[in-house]
Amino acid sequence: MTAPWEIDDFLTTRNGHLAIDGIDAASLATEFGTPLFVYSQRRIQQNLDRILAIRSRIDCGLKICYAAKAMSTLGILRTVRAAGCDVEVNSGGELFKALKAGFSGEQIIFNGTSKEEWEIEMAIENAIYAIQVDSIFELEMIAAIARRLGRPANASLRLVPEIESNTHSGLQTALITSKFGMMPEEAFAAFARYNASPHVKLSGIHIHIGSQNPDPSVYTNAFYEIYNNIRQIYAETGYVCGHVNLGGGFPVNYLRDRSSANEMQLEQRQLFGAEYDPVEAIGTAWDEAVRRAKADGALHLLKDLTLLLEPGRSIIADAGICLTTVRNAKERPSAGGWNPTDTWLLTDAGFNVLLSMETYKWYYHLISAERATEPHNTPYKLAGPLCDGGDVYFDIEGKKRLPDYRFLPENVRPGEILALLNCGAYSLSQASQYNGRFLPPVVSIDASGQPKLIRRRDRLDDLINNEIQ
Ligand code: PLP
Repeated sequence: MTAPWEIDDFLTTRNGHLAIDGIDAASLATEFGTPLFVYSQRRIQQNLDRILAIRSRIDCGLKICYAAKAMSTLGILRTVRAAGCDVEVNSGGELFKALKAGFSGEQIIFNGTSKEEWEIEMAIENAIYAIQVDSIFELEMIAAIARRLGRPANASLRLVPEIESNTHSGLQTALITSKFGMMPEEAFAAFARYNASPHVKLSGIHIHIGSQNPDPSVYTNAFYEIYNNIRQIYAETGYVCGHVNLGGGFPVNYLRDRSSANEMQLEQRQLFGAEYDPVEAIGTAWDEAVRRAKADGALHLLKDLTLLLEPGRSIIADAGICLTTVRNAKERPSAGGWNPTDTWLLTDAGFNVLLSMETYKWYYHLISAERATEPHNTPYKLAGPLCDGGDVYFDIEGKKRLPDYRFLPENVRPGEILALLNCGAYSLSQASQYNGRFLPPVVSIDASGQPKLIRRRDRLDDLINNEIQ
């Protein structure tokens, strides 16, 4: 019988162990140590193909820019590039990595609310596809730098259109109360002012609604907003936008295995269990925009448009597994759970490698990598290695944003290797050396099923390398 978390030809079992692309996960953990991130290149390709299929559903150009913030280890950026993706970066550092990974300037777009001069210079010098401008102040700064360098800056304007998503409040980005972007009126004025500028080539507008958007209709709302804006820009300036950018945010189903779902609040369940086809979400949004443009006699505004998307999570999250070892175990009087005593398991993966488990109470399904086919019926309290009481796999505030217990086979002892699933996005890219812990190694399994170490584990020296004594 297959477990609900299994995915054909990717996450399976072999001789009772978890297998990733056919490779025994426990043996990878033994060879490279834990915590260990393992990525499947085949799964990345499948996830990207699912998004590229939008091409056949809409009648305009499509440019998919992988959101490097989700995971930007060079080996993964190279995989994403080879899989047919362009890239979105959020800093000069990510821009540097994208260039190192072989992306050309034309393949790169650059977001961010607090860009510095050197980052803008780097973007202009590499002739990137678009610097996505956060404010009028920033636009003027870009124009001044471009003038000084004697090279034009390609730019698009990020709008804040007030579109609410039912995602986690920290992941909402298109509310007027959020910190991103400019008001549409500011954008119209900017298009009027920079229309013929030799220094700034304004080519489009950008909206990013939020991450893990549980409801596909937000894309229809966003595209409608975008359509209204490009229509207004045309009406006020005669300028026809070359591209529009709908950002990222397609969800990943973190609750394929729902055995713990009933232990969480309904809202969290809906967020983590969200699943829909990006093709349909964007296709429906496109159809609606076309319908309105037809009614307005403005179809020419959509005719030569290129649609940009910036998916991160939906490409990389379920392609990455975090393997962790139980390092300690103890019995404690129960905090009102299933038995008179709780068994606590202390692993080597805490919020130093999975920050969102603490900040957003993010759910990662946990299984035993060594006993993947045994019944997972025994409740345990799980926690990481850090010195904080909040470094636990449950919600210490008792708000049920995470289940209180995790279910594993009976008698889990120190030394057993466990696997946290769907950890590929916003994990290593947010990881820290807090408590003097090493940033973990990363193994990538290539299309032919060969595992390769693409990031080594930190060594002791890495903890002090930049310190001046
Ligand atoms: N684009 C922008 C501007 C973002 O801020 C983010 C993430 O927050 C993304 C794209 C990627 O979103 P996701 O990983 O949910 O696809």
